[in-house]
Amino acid sequence: MYRTQTCGELRISDVNKMVTLAGWVQRSRDLGGMTFVDLRDRYGITQLAFNMETNEELCLKARKLGREFVIQAKGKVIERSSKNTKIPTGEIEIEVTELNILNEAKTPPFTIEDESDGGDDLRMQYRYLDIRRNPVINKLKLRNRVALETRKYMDEHGFMDVETPMLIKSTPEGARDFVVPSRLHEGQFYALPQSPQTFKQLLMVSGVDRYYQITKCFRDEDLRADRQPEFTQIDCEMSFVEQEDVLNMFEGLIKHLFKVVKDVDFNYDFPRITWADAMKKYGSDKPDIRFGMEFVYLTDCAKGKGFSVFDNAQEIICINAKGCAEYTRKQLDALTDFVKRPQIGASGLIYCKFNADGTTKSSVDKFFSEEDRKVWGEKAGAEKGDLLLILCGETEKTQKQMNELRLHLGSELGLRDPQVFKPLWVLDFPLLEWSEEENRFMAMHHPFTSPKLEDLHLTATDPGKIRANAYDLAMNGVELGGGSIRIHDHALQLQMFELLGFTPEAAETQFGFLMKAFEFGAPPHGGLAFGLDRLVCMMDGADSIRDYIAFPKNNSGRDVMIDAPAPISDKQLKELNINVLK
Ligand code: ASP
Repeated sequence: MYRTQTCGELRISDVNKMVTLAGWVQRSRDLGGMTFVDLRDRYGITQLAFNMETNEELCLKARKLGREFVIQAKGKVIERSSKNTKIPTGEIEIEVTELNILNEAKTPPFTIEDESDGGDDLRMQYRYLDIRRNPVINKLKLRNRVALETRKYMDEHGFMDVETPMLIKSTPEGARDFVVPSRLHEGQFYALPQSPQTFKQLLMVSGVDRYYQITKCFRDEDLRADRQPEFTQIDCEMSFVEQEDVLNMFEGLIKHLFKVVKDVDFNYDFPRITWADAMKKYGSDKPDIRFGMEFVYLTDCAKGKGFSVFDNAQEIICINAKGCAEYTRKQLDALTDFVKRPQIGASGLIYCKFNADGTTKSSVDKFFSEEDRKVWGEKAGAEKGDLLLILCGETEKTQKQMNELRLHLGSELGLRDPQVFKPLWVLDFPLLEWSEEENRFMAMHHPFTSPKLEDLHLTATDPGKIRANAYDLAMNGVELGGGSIRIHDHALQLQMFELLGFTPEAAETQFGFLMKAFEFGAPPHGGLAFGLDRLVCMMDGADSIRDYIAFPKNNSGRDVMIDAPAPISDKQLKELNINVLK
């Protein structure tokens, strides 16, 4: 070993010990007769002291050390005269008697300190240097802790970690596949798994009973702050269970993780809401319930008064921004601009102020009397000082727009504290979702999700209304994970494929292996998957999952450090029998 202790280990009780440390030079300071070097490793920083009077040669050597040199120092632990209370090793320093340079270093492209001068791109290009910084390594440490505690919980509950393959064929999650050409099978391709879904179901047929895996999944989708083309799932499946069993098991996991990692006690059952109610109250299938501001529907009382915008709307929805009646013209204009942004797409925003003096004032006073406005106020529980914000139009669109406005206002009013955690199970998702693009129903979750049997009669008349035994765990407006009880019956699965517009041949080609397995005794089963990156990010009160991945991709899916994706050689292309079209 190059060291006897790490740089984060020594305390006042170690004074007089002879030690050897190794690490990186964070910085060095010459103070006339003394030179001090901060030596850093993953565990912390220890100060090395060199004295011009007692050992001139060594001190001169120390003065030549550059930033990020890798060194080894031997010496005695002594008490510091001026202590640093900010770091755990701040009471001691090492009186160095031997100094070895293990490796020199070029000056790093940015300062390797908590506050760095490096921009995002530069730090990503030199991510290995970025990881030397505390704020970055601490995020990876947190991730490690969460993964480890997950494994403990899963193990304690009888789950078996089973690996599933990465080179497979198209999976059913509904995103675009990443594909890998096969050399041995000309013109054929593997797909990288969008999830281990089919394999974990096969493992249930195998009798594995309780499976989990912390594994990479790949989806070729447009990227956002909370999306990466490759991400990690805590993927789980259980046999002989009903929805209630799955929810309880994984509510337990989340409680365990928050308790041991964050010391957050969820000493209550996670609240539950149906998907339909979530859409109605929050316009979102992952509501942020850290604050109220639930939707209030004014459709009944605001339509038919001659205001054509309302009269032509399917739904008129408002939220009550408590205490915001004093909003200025400028503030209201800013909110209007917000909802009119193309990503949100509202055509305008209507307000109604409930002033402190008891009067009301709206942007549509021409059409609505004080009496009308009072009725709105009553519906929305508006008190003096409140502000109603109203959007209208087609139901679903308006709900979604209002969701954005609600979240925006919640942030503006400081109601979304990232250190407050509000979990919520969202249940009874619709089984199907209409795809404009494909002009057919698609599985909202995936085609193996079981429908609620009591809704099956809607198959011929109103398939969009069939509910599934599918659930998500939302927290603070983020989907942490989701899953479903699966279809384990061969005939029902065939019926589902038909409903989803698969011809028997197409179903056979894509999922024949699973259908065949289901003929050999598939147990009732269900499960879910959590996004590990998102979960860790949430636990840290942050919002970019990229920071919790050691080597992430940038916004356009590139790894700027290794410079991938990249062209491959003609020889490789030839071996794969691939022609790249210009
Ligand atoms: N495979 C699903 C997903 O990736 C999770 C599940 O249903 O267990 O969303």
